[in-house]
Amino acid sequence: MKSLQNKIFLFFVILLLMVQSIAFWTLYSGKKNQEAAEINNRLTTAKTIFTELFDRRLTYLSTFAETVAKDYGLKEVFNEDTRSLLFALNNHRKRIDADLAMTITAEGVINGQLQRYFINGKDKIRQGAERNTIFRFNEWLGAGQAAHLYMIDDALYQLSLSPVTVGAKTLGWIAFGFEIDHRLASEFKKITDLTTDFIIKDEGKWRLISIKPNNTNYNRALELAVQVIDNKTPDKYIATRTLINEFDDKELGVAMHGLRANFVALLQEQWWKFLFLAALTLLLSLTSAYFIAASISKPIKRLVTQAKVIASGDYQQKVSLKDKNEIGQLAEEFNQMQAAVLLREEAITHSANHDPLTDLPNRNLLNKTINQLIAQQQSFQIFHLNLSRLNDVNDTLGRDVGDKVIKELASRLQHLHQKNNFKALAHTGADEFVLLIENMNVDEIVTQLNVQLEPTFNYQGISLHFQVRVGIAAYPEHATNAKSLLQMAVMALHSAKKQSKLVQIYHPDLDINTVERLNLINDLKQAIPAGELTLHFQPKMCLKTRKVTHAEALVRWEHPTLGMIPPDNFIYIAEQTGQIKALTRWVFITALAQYNAWKTQGIDLNIAVNISAENLKESDFHQFIYQSMIAANVPAKKITLEVTESSVVEDPEAAIKVLAEFKDYGMKISIDDYGTGYSSLAQLKQLPVHELKIDKSFIQNIENDEDDRIIVRSTIELAHNMGLHVVAEGIEDEFALNWLSDHGCELAQGYYISRPKPAIDLTPWLLAHLNIKETKGSV
Ligand code: C2E
Ligand code: CA
Ligand code: CA
Repeated sequence: MKSLQNKIFLFFVILLLMVQSIAFWTLYSGKKNQEAAEINNRLTTAKTIFTELFDRRLTYLSTFAETVAKDYGLKEVFNEDTRSLLFALNNHRKRIDADLAMTITAEGVINGQLQRYFINGKDKIRQGAERNTIFRFNEWLGAGQAAHLYMIDDALYQLSLSPVTVGAKTLGWIAFGFEIDHRLASEFKKITDLTTDFIIKDEGKWRLISIKPNNTNYNRALELAVQVIDNKTPDKYIATRTLINEFDDKELGVAMHGLRANFVALLQEQWWKFLFLAALTLLLSLTSAYFIAASISKPIKRLVTQAKVIASGDYQQKVSLKDKNEIGQLAEEFNQMQAAVLLREEAITHSANHDPLTDLPNRNLLNKTINQLIAQQQSFQIFHLNLSRLNDVNDTLGRDVGDKVIKELASRLQHLHQKNNFKALAHTGADEFVLLIENMNVDEIVTQLNVQLEPTFNYQGISLHFQVRVGIAAYPEHATNAKSLLQMAVMALHSAKKQSKLVQIYHPDLDINTVERLNLINDLKQAIPAGELTLHFQPKMCLKTRKVTHAEALVRWEHPTLGMIPPDNFIYIAEQTGQIKALTRWVFITALAQYNAWKTQGIDLNIAVNISAENLKESDFHQFIYQSMIAANVPAKKITLEVTESSVVEDPEAAIKVLAEFKDYGMKISIDDYGTGYSSLAQLKQLPVHELKIDKSFIQNIENDEDDRIIVRSTIELAHNMGLHVVAEGIEDEFALNWLSDHGCELAQGYYISRPKPAIDLTPWLLAHLNIKETKGSV
């Protein structure tokens, strides 16, 4: 329900329903009014017609009776012979088709009465039952010519009386009547379309005279007629009533009615048509609303999908929307953003694989190339070049000159590289270059190298002259992996230097170092039990508060005879001989103990420990870490594990598995030496990691190197976008510290803040720095 599409659709639905309801309501009340007006009109007309017709019949009767009263023939027989009287009376009756004809003597006796009646639909005339009786309404006789309602048995008549006179003498009266019955009723029905019922109230009870009591509909018709007269007509009907004055202790009522539906049938039919059209338009509108909603949200959905694709690290796909509107522009911006991200990532990858000064491939890329060649089983030679006297230049003329010289030498080597189509040229250290060469005569190359590099380099009037020494190792003759091959080339180079030779090809006898190395391996075994390993700690500062919040544990070996050996010289031996397992465990336990010692002095620091790639391969490593943490009672969130980028890239799946476990415990995972490996951001996203530790090579020179600044800035941005924190190591001056702080880097580590120191030396510094009053002596 929350999606944009549904919301738009819902909006349309509500809008349409509102509009339709208003239209519906207006038309509905219009229809009701029209109906009422129509019905009212019909009923009023019907009532008027009835009254007029009824009155006209009376007028007609009166005029006729008056005329007949003047007839001589009738006068002559009036009191004489009955037969002749009735004959004359019937002749007159026929002229107006009256239902009743009557003569009354001067004494008030009915002496002639003719009554029409019906048998099987045919009408007949008979003598009335009242002959020779006294006329019931003596008071009518004095009043001259007049009209009345008159009842004989069940039949009701409209009656008109007229006196028959001779001179001043009244002979008697003559009367004619029309019956009020079903015939009159059906006549009205024809004219008005309304059923007309005549109804009489006799001794408090109503009865119908327009329908015979034996008719099967009688009771129903009576009930309805009474309801109409009482003004209680059921809704199904429309009706009008007329009450005709009382007569002879009775009442005559006229009920005219019809089925409401019959009268509004046309309107109703129009109404159904309207409803059908309304439903149809609603359906069509809703359908188009649905499609409009979909067409608005569809491109947005595509952008959402695209955003997910980008987030997964795929920058190649583009969204193409034909829309020229805002969404189309958004898609365009989207593509540009994607292109920008791609460019930046390419720039970062490039700088991770190239030396910033010469832009030649660095050790990472070299390793990669060597591994590729080995994978293709192509034989090749590694030429490890060293330029003598470059250090002197740095020391005497300054680094700027040194850098210029290196650039110049790099371009001369590049020239040679292109000319001879070597496999690779890499810049692996200030004065060190490596060439990968396939199947070429060694002497010839060395000659070419010297020819190319020997020309003097002129700087402000000073001529500099360089000499190149070369150590060579060959694949597959000497070794079958990159690391050993490179070490052998270095060994050969050392040997060349020692013997002041220009070139030395590796051979096993050169391994004089191995004796040293073997001793070191043996000694390392003793180092832990003998207590020769110690830990130094280097603080990490929170750049927001400028307070130290973390410390990294860095191992040292105080060799009984060789003195202090830096970790770079023995960690790799420990890794290769399997002793790294014991070493890391010792470091971890000792570091946790230091955490607790500091804790008692009020110093609460997160402790970072370096984990080697080899450790990640141990099957019980995570168990060890977990158990030691529990045993030392150190909260997991106070522990950071630093893992180098390259060790993760070596075997990502295994690394992810172990690191995810640590993350679950609540420990922080930091990617050490970030930027020197060649992991892509997409790869990093897969890792259960909290922070990136940008390698010191990007930081040390940040004041002077714009490329480094660009790399570091975009790395911080990208890390933040991925929800990671950033630590910078190798901060050697105030500029670097402030610059990183300005660019949102979270933590800083470096000589400028503090060199790594034994805890005993670091503690007073920490207490002062953190403003803590010393309570106990340091540990
Ligand atoms: P690392 O983990 O990158 O440690 C940082 C190194 O940079 C330390 O060298 C530290 O002294 C140095 N450093 C710190 N600040 C600066 C600075 O401002 N400028 C410069 N130029 N250097 C700075 P250290 O102690 O010689 O350690 C070298 C490497 O040895 C470490 O690099 C780490 O990879 C490894 N290492 C040290 N202790 C252990 C350990 O206990 N276990 C494992 N597996 N490796 C360790
Ligand atoms: Ca580290
Ligand atoms: Ca590092």
